[in-house]
Formats: sequence, structure tokens, C-alpha cells
Amino acid sequence: MVEKMTKYIPASYESKALAHNSSITVKTKFNESKLTAIQIIPEEVNAIFNQQAVEKMQEEAIDCQSPELDVITGATESSSAVKRALKDCFAKASGKEMRHAKTLKDGTYQASAPSYGFMYPMTGEVTFQDNKIKDINITKESDSLTSQWFEVAKEKMIPRIIKNQSLDTGVVTGASASSVAIRSITEKAIAKAGGDVNDWHIPVSTKTDTVILKDYDVIVVGLGGSGVLSYCAAAKSGAKVFGIEAAGAIGGNSVSTFGPMVVNSKELNAKYNNGQDNIDPADLYKTWIKYVGSDSKAEVIKTAIDQCGPAIDYYIKNFGFSFDGVFPGAPVGGFLPSFVRKDWTKEWIIYTADKDNKKWYISGPDHAFQFENALEKAKKMNPNNDYKVELRAKKLLTDDAGKIIGVKAKYYDGTIYQIYAKSVILASGGFIGNAQMMKEVYGADCHVFGSTTAKGDGIRMARELGADTYALKTLPMIHISQVPYIIRDNSLSADQKAILSALATTPDAIQIDETGTILGSKDDTGTTNSDLKIQTAFAPGFHYYNAYSQDEIDQIREHGLSEITTKINIFAIGQGGKMPVANTPIRDIDKIIDQTIKHRNAWKGTVREIAELLNMDQAKLEKALGSKNGLFYLFENAAYAYATCGGLNINEKMNVLRKDGSVIDNLFAVGQDSEGVENKNGEAYTPWGGQAQAWTFVSGKIAGENVASL
Ligand SMILES: Cc1cc2nc3c(=O)[nH]c(=O)nc-3n(C[C@H](O)[C@H](O)[C@H](O)COP(=O)(O)OP(=O)(O)OC[C@H]3O[C@@H](n4cnc5c(N)ncnc54)[C@H](O)[C@@H]3O)c2cc1C
Repeated sequence: MVEKMTKYIPASYESKALAHNSSITVKTKFNESKLTAIQIIPEEVNAIFNQQAVEKMQEEAIDCQSPELDVITGATESSSAVKRALKDCFAKASGKEMRHAKTLKDGTYQASAPSYGFMYPMTGEVTFQDNKIKDINITKESDSLTSQWFEVAKEKMIPRIIKNQSLDTGVVTGASASSVAIRSITEKAIAKAGGDVNDWHIPVSTKTDTVILKDYDVIVVGLGGSGVLSYCAAAKSGAKVFGIEAAGAIGGNSVSTFGPMVVNSKELNAKYNNGQDNIDPADLYKTWIKYVGSDSKAEVIKTAIDQCGPAIDYYIKNFGFSFDGVFPGAPVGGFLPSFVRKDWTKEWIIYTADKDNKKWYISGPDHAFQFENALEKAKKMNPNNDYKVELRAKKLLTDDAGKIIGVKAKYYDGTIYQIYAKSVILASGGFIGNAQMMKEVYGADCHVFGSTTAKGDGIRMARELGADTYALKTLPMIHISQVPYIIRDNSLSADQKAILSALATTPDAIQIDETGTILGSKDDTGTTNSDLKIQTAFAPGFHYYNAYSQDEIDQIREHGLSEITTKINIFAIGQGGKMPVANTPIRDIDKIIDQTIKHRNAWKGTVREIAELLNMDQAKLEKALGSKNGLFYLFENAAYAYATCGGLNINEKMNVLRKDGSVIDNLFAVGQDSEGVENKNGEAYTPWGGQAQAWTFVSGKIAGENVASL
């Protein structure tokens, strides 16, 4: 009789592994001799790692009876996460646990990896001792854009990796680029020490506990600008408040901004305008109503104007906010002119930067401390006030009658929180970080300049309970275009990156749309293809190309860039380096171009080759380039967005409205979650200057005070 071979312990096994910044669960069933069933469950899908890819991997696993599956092209991180989780299931079924099989050589190893910074990658050193990760020390980080987030990643990621002796600890929300860089540095060091990186992606068990918190007056969902300001006003009005923040730190995009529009703040007019009004509210109101082309939200717009000054004064006096900021190099603080109305010479103002009013990041003054101080002060106003970071709100809780009674949220370690309160303020910052929702609303996704933690949760949760939206299709804030893939490694120096940015964005080149037609051309209906820019904003998905002939590139090599090109403002999203003086030969232009092509930001070829590569009309491209002979270089430009501007429909008390116009008494929406009421579908958001920030102050104060009175 042939004895049956027992390979596995028959049972179901489950494992989880981390992809880029979301996890993938693999559920399996084994009989004594083989894997009989598999289910791959990704936390998030995208255009490449979609249902089809999941099914392909499931089939392959059953066919080959091994975790060594083919990688899905373009989804390497997700594929390797599936492989690691499956490997863990195989190990469990065989009665073994995955362990650090290959011994690491003791010592300290240096490595670097691309992070959020523009100029250089992050560099660090990892120390191993007795086959364990003993220490991770980040020695260099050039994260000049949002350096507070790097600090958050460093503070949270490193102890988690060391404690779990695993790289599958998850990334810190809001600081995912820095977290991934820390993880990559550790992976590279493991490889240098002779280890197998896969062995160190051991699934970290997540918690399944539920924590119940009761008896709050209000829960604030999102502690960015509008959330902190709501929290403060509610606390000062006597409410017992709980704040929920998904990211590893509070502040959201609001801590990366320049500052708010101001309409007659007594404090700021006394300081910077000899006590005179800085703007005429009646003129502003008239202009605003004309811009949105409707008075259906006239009451809200009037409130936004009338309450702007008093709200800013309230936060200056009670919570220590200050607006003495200056642009680098400018002599004094004070008001700035509007972007669109030249006669509004004193329309908005800049936050004071750090405690010495000096620290400045590319995107604005470093004023996170103002929000942190205000929140701590508000928290102390009631011993029962509290807040928690790395906690993402998932769902509004309701009673049998459908009344909102709280929020269900998930902590980074898997713990579920059920928090109960009389009312909820939604302050989750809009939906710029939700690619799927962007596509649904605008038909196109967008590169993001700022934080992507705003996933549309506030809008989604309210809609699930019948809430209405208003001007959801207002164009997002998109004023900047730049190469689609910012080069964050050190394949080019900072100065070379500056030249690349200038070549891609200068108007001193032939500019071509995605069909191969020159920008500014009119089609048969008389529509101009550069109408993609609507007032002050680009449309999502907007992209175009700057084209150069071989002759022009040769000219640049020998005689440098033009005056116009060297004057290009690459300050906001540029690459951090210095532009050369006009007409200075750029001897390394070929290296710059090679790297640009490698990073998929430029294409080189004949007209036919480029038309094929970019799916353009060859005849149109030939016409645009003015020749069909020789080589051409096309540098791509894509739109970068700060935030979405459409949101929930609310009234002037910040109460969310249902589709039938009725009021949801205990649900409020502030900041970008309700910004649509000041805007219009299909148009750029109201472009006066600082209007979104002004709304965080007005909506935050009103919502906070109103919840306290419920
Ligand atoms: C670089 C940059 C510069 C800008 N400059 C200006 C300017 O000068 N003037 C101006 O008026 N506007 C400016 N803006 C626009 C700015 O986005 C808004 O003014 C501001 O962010 C609105 O505040 P908010 O509270 O709605 O959003 P945020 O401040 O972004 O806060 C939203 C918060 O909600 C959190 N969150 C999201 N989902 C959840 C969830 N489910 N659970 C818990 N928490 C959640 C997020 O993590 C975030 O902390 C700028 C934006 C950027 C990116």
C-alpha cells in the first residue's frame, strides 16, 4: 500500500503584508498535500493592481503551488506584498514560521533612498547586532518642502521597525514618502549585511480590539486647519470635544499654506493699516456673487465676508494666532495684494513662521506650531477633552432612528474606536488624495502638491446618510505645472534639476498638447486647446509638452539658456537648485536629458517615433514642430493640485443639508469639506487670495460655537 505523503497541516491560514502604504491580506486553505484555495484582498486597488491582477495571481498560486508568483508589471510593491503574505501562509501550513533565515553580519551600514525632498535623497545608517536591527539613524534629509512630516516619520517608524524586527509595520499617514524612504534605507542595509530583504517583511499582527469612548459633546473629524479651529471654538464655548486625526501629526495642508484673506480684522488693521478698513466688504460681496453667477448661497457668502475679520481676531486673542509673516527677503509683515483685483492692495496676509518668524519652507512659512499651541490650549479647557492622531474616521454611527450618535474610526494598529457624541464636525480636507473620487468627479486624477491624506471621507460619510453636495465640480486649486515625476534621487545635482524644470516649463519653447497640436490653436468649433486653464486654475489631468529640436539643444549646450528661460519661477515646485546666468553654456545638457528620459519626464526621437510613443497625430505633430526631419525632445508638464474645492452643501450655520434641503441638526462641515458653497461648478475656486484659509477660520468658529449650543 502506498503511504499518503503529508506536506501540510490541513487548515485555513491568513497573512497580511504591506504594499506601498496599504496592506494586502491573503487567505488560504490547505489540505494535506496542497494549497486548495486562495483569496487576495487588497485594502486599496488602483488602475494596475486591480481585480484582474488579483485574479491572475490567485490562479497562478493554485497552478504553481508556490509563493514565487510572477510580478504584475507596474505593480511591483503590491505583487511582492502578495508573495510575502503567501510565503507566510505556506510557512504556517508547513508548521514553520517565517524567520530571519540568512544571518546578518554585525556592523553599521549606510544607504540612501528617494524621499519627499527635491534636492537629494534621504541618507541613513543601520546597525545590526546578533541578527537584529539595533538602530536606524537618519543622517541627511533635504525635505525642504514639509520637513515637519519627516520628523513625524522618523519619530514613529524607526521604533516600530526595531520593536517588531520587521519592515511590515505600515507607513505613517501623512508622512508616507519619508516612511517609505526609511524602510528602503533599512532594506538596502539588510542586503549589504548579507541578509534577504524578504525575510524582514514579517507580517506584523494587527489588533482586533474595540475601544468605546462615550459622552462627548462633539467629535471633530480631521485636525487640519478647520478642524483645529472648530475644536478650539467648541472647547472655548464649553463643549467636551474629541478630535480624530488620520495623519501622524495634526495640521493637515493648513500648515503648508501662506495665509488667509482678511476682511477688516480690528487687530490686523490696527497693526498694519492705521486702523483703517483693508477692504470694502460691499465691493467684495458684489464681486463674489458676480463670480459665482448665483445668489443661491448668498447668506453663506455674506457670512464668509462679515465674519472673516471677527473670526481672525477671535483666534488671535484667544488662541495666540499671529500673522506677521514675510516673504523671504521682504522687510516687514503686513497685507498683500489680491491675485485678481489690482485695486485690492491689502487683501490677504501671511502666517508668522516658527517662533523667530524666520523658518520658511518652499511652500510657505513653518507655522505648524501655531496650530499645535492652539489645540493644546483648547484641550486643557476641559479635563475630558482629548484627541488622537493616526486614527482615521470610517463611518458615522447612527441610532435606530437614523440620528448621528458618533463616529467609528480605525487606529493605525488595527484597533477600532467607537466614539459617541451629540454632534460631529467634518473637517477632513476634501478629496484630493482619492484618485478614484477625482476620476469620478472630474474624469481625471491629478498630481498632488501637498498632503494626500484627504481621501473624501467626510463627504463620503455624510453622503451615506443622505447629505447633498454643492459645486462639487469646482476646479481644484491647481496653479502649478511641472514634470510629472519629480526626480528625488541624486542622478542629477540640484542645479541640473533646476535647468530641467526650466526647460520643461518655460514659455520660450514650442508648446504642444497631448494630440500633437500647438497650444493656443483653435479647433473647428473655435475652442482653444489652451482653454484647459480656466481663470486661475488648470483642469485636472491637464498636461502638455515643451518641444526642442536637436539644433536648439545644441545651441543650449554651446550658448546656454535664454533670458526668459532663466527667469522662470521654479520657486514653488522647482527642484531646489540655482538657475545659471543666461547664455552660459550648459555642457552637461545631454546628461540632464538622459536622466529626464529615464525618469519618464521627456521623450526623444523623430516625429514618427514620438507620435507613436505618445500616441499623437503624426501630421499634427509635424506641423507643430515645423519639420519632419531630425531629432526632437519633448519635456512633459503636468498639473499639480493643492486641494479640492467642492464639498458638502451647508447653511450659514455650517449645518450639513440633505438633498431635499432639510437640515441635519447635529452634522457640520468646515474647511475644504464645505468649500463648494463659495464656488461654482466648472470654474476655478474664488481666486481673491487666501480665501480657502479664511474659510477655515470662519467655518471653524461658527461650527464650533454652534455644536456647543446643542
Ligand atoms: C502647499 C499649499 C499651500 C496653500 N496655500 C494656501 C494659502 O496660502 N491660502 C489659502 O487660502 N489656501 C491655501 N492652500 C489651500 C489649503 O489646502 C486650505 O486652505 C486648507 O488646507 C483647508 O483646511 P482644511 O482643514 O479643510 O484641510 P487640511 O488642513 O488639509 O486638514 C484636513 C485634515 O483632515 C485629516 N483627515 C482626512 N481624512 C480623515 C479621516 N477620515 N479621519 C481623520 N482625519 C482625516 C487630514 O489628515 C488633515 O489633517 C494651500 C494648500 C497647499 C497644499
